[in-house]
Amino acid sequence: MSEIIRLCPRCGAEYREGFSICSDCHVPLVSRLDTEAGDPLVPLAMETSFDLVAELLDRFEKKAIPYVIEAGTALRCLDDETAALYEPEDWQARIYVVSSRQKDAAGILADVKFRRQLERLPGAPRRQEEDQ
Ligand SMILES: [Zn+2]
Repeated sequence: MSEIIRLCPRCGAEYREGFSICSDCHVPLVSRLDTEAGDPLVPLAMETSFDLVAELLDRFEKKAIPYVIEAGTALRCLDDETAALYEPEDWQARIYVVSSRQKDAAGILADVKFRRQLERLPGAPRRQEEDQ
């Protein structure tokens, strides 16, 4: 048996059909076909910071979270075959993870962003790796 389910791309909460926004995160839900065997990719984030993405993927590798990344300066051409792009656009990365690990991945993303914010505060302690 399979049915379309709606889920929140941020927290991974599942919703019945008829809902369109996560009641906790207030972001639009995404649809996926829920089959017993499948573990489809779900979009996790779109980021423009190379450093942030590098750190995120490093954390995913350490936690063995399967992911896919689309990145570059011509992502628009992936979406639109008729796009005419003669110069690179801003670097962007789209990150997808397997749905079974989406909650872990969203937690790591939130943690990475939080730490990066803390590091930008004046007088914040530098990370240990950077001191060595
Ligand atoms: Zn949510």
